[in-house]
Amino acid sequence: MRIVLLGPPGAGKGTLAELLKENLNIVHISTGDILREEMKNNTPLGQDIKKLVDGGALVPDSIVIKIIENKLTGSYQGGTFGGDNFGKSYLLDGFPRTKAQAQELDKFLTRIHQPIDFALYMEASLPVILQRLTGRRVCKKCGALYHVINKPPQKDGICDVCQGILYQRPDDNEETIKTRMNVYIKNTSPVIEYYAAQNKLKKVNADNDGQYVQGELMKIFHEAGKTDQHKNA
Ligand code: AMP
Repeated sequence: MRIVLLGPPGAGKGTLAELLKENLNIVHISTGDILREEMKNNTPLGQDIKKLVDGGALVPDSIVIKIIENKLTGSYQGGTFGGDNFGKSYLLDGFPRTKAQAQELDKFLTRIHQPIDFALYMEASLPVILQRLTGRRVCKKCGALYHVINKPPQKDGICDVCQGILYQRPDDNEETIKTRMNVYIKNTSPVIEYYAAQNKLKKVNADNDGQYVQGELMKIFHEAGKTDQHKNA
């Protein structure tokens, strides 16, 4: 299965991906994680994009498209994100974020005969988004996600998994969240229409927690499996 996760910042895309990784053999590819890794390692790319990412603006299409193509074909060299995902099941999280990215992704996947199966649109309301993002904490070392109220760590400020230090993303403050929401509405809404027009859009109410969303996704997998069996019959 090749799935694109769509939805505003704070819809719970990363949380869903974490849950699915535990339960299914599916690779999570997040452009946000890859870009943050570049910034952490202070690579030339990381230095170039830092202002954009910290301010909530989008990184140019050409950069993220190249990263995704290299990542899917296994030639991505940066950070700790190398590895061949060619032919595997994967979730794309945070990509595509513009219609141009969606079109380029389609062209590339058509070339390698591996079209995406569907896009999952995780709809969430503004109060829920704000509550999630302002309380979100991330492990510096392993990237595990926490929330000061919804999912606090056992020891304040320390990751349960690897004992790394938890931090608040610089773009998770209210001012930058507003910018990210505006960027999302302007650039990413057309991506939702793009997949709807291809009949590949599935929707889920992501005001609910990750377990619920995971359950809904499992139903979609099940349906897709039925369709495949039907096709193969
Ligand atoms: P995320 O972790 O998905 O919230 O992404 C964090 C930030 O990384 C975004 O606010 C953008 O600055 C940048 N970013 C991530 N994915 C993309 C993308 N597909 N296109 C452009 N910028 C991106």
